[in-house]
Amino acid sequence: PRNAAAGAVRQLDPKVTARRRLSFFAYGLNGADSLSLKDHMAVIDFLKEIGFRVSPNAVKVSGFEAMKAAYEDMARRRPALGWGIDGTVWKLADLEQQEMVGWNHRVPRFAVAWKFPPEEMPTELLGIDIQVGRTGAITPVARLKPVFVGGTTISNVTLHNQGQVHLKDVRIGDTVIVRRAGDVIPEIVGPIIDRRPEGASPWVMPTTCPECGAPLHLTGAEHFCSGGSKCPAQRLYRITHFASRLAMDIAGLGESIVATLLNEGFITCASDLYSLDTARLTAMPGFGIQSAGNLASAIAGTRNRPLAKFIFSLGIEGVGERSSKDLAAAYGSWKAFTACTRESLLSVQDVGDVTADSILEYLDTPETADEAQRLADLVQPQSVEKAVGGRFEGKMLVLTGTLPTLTREAATALIEAAGGKVSGSVSKKTHAVVAGEAAGSKLEKAQSLSVPVWDEAEFLEQIGTVEAQAQASRPPEEECPLFQASLF
Ligand SMILES: [Zn+2]
Repeated sequence: PRNAAAGAVRQLDPKVTARRRLSFFAYGLNGADSLSLKDHMAVIDFLKEIGFRVSPNAVKVSGFEAMKAAYEDMARRRPALGWGIDGTVWKLADLEQQEMVGWNHRVPRFAVAWKFPPEEMPTELLGIDIQVGRTGAITPVARLKPVFVGGTTISNVTLHNQGQVHLKDVRIGDTVIVRRAGDVIPEIVGPIIDRRPEGASPWVMPTTCPECGAPLHLTGAEHFCSGGSKCPAQRLYRITHFASRLAMDIAGLGESIVATLLNEGFITCASDLYSLDTARLTAMPGFGIQSAGNLASAIAGTRNRPLAKFIFSLGIEGVGERSSKDLAAAYGSWKAFTACTRESLLSVQDVGDVTADSILEYLDTPETADEAQRLADLVQPQSVEKAVGGRFEGKMLVLTGTLPTLTREAATALIEAAGGKVSGSVSKKTHAVVAGEAAGSKLEKAQSLSVPVWDEAEFLEQIGTVEAQAQASRPPEEECPLFQASLF
């Protein structure tokens, strides 16, 4: 009822709101003091006098015991009221006192709600159904003998996951307690063990997806269908994700077009996009030659998209945009990624146990791995230029002093990108020392060991990337005084 009322008031067209036939009890009035009203009950009486409906249950009491008695009386009368309430509200009656205690942010300090405990009702657990979400997440849902609780008839309640089912130990045939408070999602509190039928056995999560038959796997506390885009429950979401802007970025291929392509049998999975029957598509209502052609070329345009985007587009559970980048940087190529081990995954930034398991599961499950390989063959994701074979491959460099344009971090990044390592001390093994202004003992040591010493210009020449310099250099010196001036 609360949501229905809020939705009705939120209508853009007041005529629609009017048709919803809402009614309300007035319980307050702004500017009551200007009418020389001194008391909340006087406000209520005034509102009633000028024609508003007011609650017939408002009472003025004095003292905590009287409040408690009135609250309990209200709880007893609650079922017969004819409208839903979830508690009582107490206000300081004296308006002057209300003003004295005032507000804490937007919450009045002169009013307090006493909620009733959530309503609970017993009913029979008829079965536990499995729902497959858009991402393949598996949710056990309790099917109940319909029961009226908290103002609504309830026949389905989510049990969240296998762990919750076992924790609550609900079994099919049990009499269970259902609880619902206000607009909160109803929940099963637990079974009434005394009323458990003989032979009721603990619930077991199925091993395969009810929608597609693919095996289920456990990631963290949740089960997932491993069917990927072969699973009807996941297809639409997965293909739409594959085409989305941060993934393969196929212009014009949003959810509604994907739905059409699926429903009309053009595709069953993302790899089918690459062999679209454009001649037939042209004949579809709303397509025409041009848009079918545009779609086909947008799909073809995904060839050689960067590896990070490709990994992201697969929608592997737990692998977001950020970790896709990290994975692409760590493995460099699709082939190397598919050969990943648990150990190598865990060494990638932000990849923990759960994500590592999820990736391995994805790559070990034929349903998902085969489709991913088909897509990789079609897209040929662009490998990341790895440092292997870089100019400083296996070389140790030392930075000392202040370089004219490069920060220490930028210089380090350039060295690492070229396959080298940065060390804090000079030895005979040091490939070169890059020295700037105010270089100290490291420079002397390099000279004594006959290690080459480069200035920044020499260093950049050795790396041989003008582009790298442009990316990594800090703002030119003359801008610095301006920047500093703005600080003071
Ligand atoms: Zn499935």
